[in-house]
Amino acid sequence: MLKKALAVSVALLAAAPASAELVVYTSRAEHLIKPIIEAYTRQTKVPVKMVFDRNAGTLMEKLRAEGANSPADVLITVDGGNLWQATQMGLLRPVNSATLKANIPAHLRDPKNQWFGLSVRARTIFYNTDKVKPSDLSTYADLANPKWKGRLCLRTSNNVYNQSLVGTMIQSQGAQKTEAIVRGWVANLAAEPFANDTALLEAIGAGRCDVGIANTYYFGRLLDKQPNIKVKAFFADQSGRGTHVNVSGAGITKHSKNAAEAQKFLEWLSSPAAQNLFADLNHEYPANPQVQPDPKVAKWGKFKQDVINVSVAGSKQKQAVMLMKRAGYK
Ligand code: FE
Repeated sequence: MLKKALAVSVALLAAAPASAELVVYTSRAEHLIKPIIEAYTRQTKVPVKMVFDRNAGTLMEKLRAEGANSPADVLITVDGGNLWQATQMGLLRPVNSATLKANIPAHLRDPKNQWFGLSVRARTIFYNTDKVKPSDLSTYADLANPKWKGRLCLRTSNNVYNQSLVGTMIQSQGAQKTEAIVRGWVANLAAEPFANDTALLEAIGAGRCDVGIANTYYFGRLLDKQPNIKVKAFFADQSGRGTHVNVSGAGITKHSKNAAEAQKFLEWLSSPAAQNLFADLNHEYPANPQVQPDPKVAKWGKFKQDVINVSVAGSKQKQAVMLMKRAGYK
């Protein structure tokens, strides 16, 4: 009897088709994504092919151009602005997964379930510890106060991260108030806007600026290289809406021929087993709130997230770009 059952199950195993290959298009850096993909393949035996392009726009254009012939099953990219754009371009499909809904908070996923945040970055205030006390700091809006004149540093406005920050401010505070804040920021600048967050954080460390706004993971990378840098993170708006957060996230492509397998992959990425692997490599926060951040990241302190849906970064992006232009923010 037992022998027979065993024979049947072996036959079934032999008859089962080999796991189909998953194709992942991603704009993330290879060293951040490869270890996760390899862990997945080790655990599930599902082979995963990766296609890299650091430019999210180019990658999405490629997907669109390939249309129904695209080999892609999954798109992984960063920023709600980009993910929203992918939905507008019709590149993704809704995924109805109780697991993903349970693992990923509502504000970190597409309201129509076409993408899901997998890691969280806060875009918050950083300050020079010699020149600023945390008690001097409070909100993004307060950085428009004349007390910061000649002391504030910002990254250029053509970067999606600042467009997303301003977009969510427009949604929650209105365009008029947001424009007044952005004008105040511009009036307070200590230097021309920086090309990237790392240069900005280094300038704060060097005392060229007293305060600035940057993504937390750039701070993490900088701390790895310069553990004694005189810069600290301050979580903005903690008595109000909370600190602005954004995500890296993933969706299943509209033309995936392997959507069931792709869904299992996304569900695995959202699971406690994979979340640390995904977030820690880039000094990010797990999107799944049941998972603790890396101790190095946790050291910066606990904070309240702004729970406005991250997709607003996309839907308000055009308006944000125009507003920043009007306000003279280069
Ligand atoms: Fe970045």
